[in-house]
Amino acid sequence: MSPQPLSQIVSRFAMTCCLLFASTAQLYAQPEDWSTPFPGHRVIANLYAVGTSGLGVFLVTSDEGHILINTGLEDSTPLIQENIESVGFRLEDVRILLTMQAHWDHTAALADIKEITGAEMWATTNDARVLEDGGFSDPHFGGRESFKPVSVDKIISDGEVIELGEIHLQVHEHPGHTEGSSSYSMQVRENGRDYAVAIANMGTINAGKRLVVDPTYPGVSEDFAETYRQQKAMEIDVWVAAHGGQYGLHDKYAPGQAYSPDTFVDPDGFVAEVERLEDIYLEQLAEERR
Ligand SMILES: [Zn+2]
Repeated sequence: MSPQPLSQIVSRFAMTCCLLFASTAQLYAQPEDWSTPFPGHRVIANLYAVGTSGLGVFLVTSDEGHILINTGLEDSTPLIQENIESVGFRLEDVRILLTMQAHWDHTAALADIKEITGAEMWATTNDARVLEDGGFSDPHFGGRESFKPVSVDKIISDGEVIELGEIHLQVHEHPGHTEGSSSYSMQVRENGRDYAVAIANMGTINAGKRLVVDPTYPGVSEDFAETYRQQKAMEIDVWVAAHGGQYGLHDKYAPGQAYSPDTFVDPDGFVAEVERLEDIYLEQLAEERR
């Protein structure tokens, strides 16, 4: 290793501090739209969005009970309940809880909702660990509890189809953003046409995360690469994601807008967004190897 000028060492130290600080700031200074109410609405067929302005929470309904994917922050239960009722269902009828990524902005109300509904919490192996210790073992934001721990009743894995009533929801393990990140997909039929629907966890890289040099967790770089590859290969008509901004919620839908199964049809937008995130990933890879 060649000796480094002091200025370079100092600037590198400053950068590390800022990155650490950025992660901590992100944990406590939450974007306002995460808790801003937004009306519940039907995305397509039996898929409803019941989250906030910035946080995607999704309800998949059946005659035998419902699946709820994600929550918002820890005080989001009343907002979610209100949104579920506004689209004609009851929180108490939720049977299965799922998450797309075990980060507090999507998990913090799971323990509460599990208690209210008696629903089972299902999760991938690696997100289950983080759910059960309240974020403590999160390799990026961990070392502290960032949400109320929730016990996991069943481990789900890639390719598995979750069945509840007429729901057939396929699990896709899309790790990278967290070790256990997952997306879900299903086919629905509306107006005599089949639609492929994805509730997709996008491969965004949180500030301060490391891919290859002192990686945030072993294999994180390969996980991201494989997730982008798999997502680009998915046939998708309609997609939503864990944050409204990621899937253009506010461009595609205005509160009160009449239901149409075509509102969220956007196959090209999905691929374009995956490619945009992959480009950011490739840039960071190059930067770390420099
Ligand atoms: Zn996250």
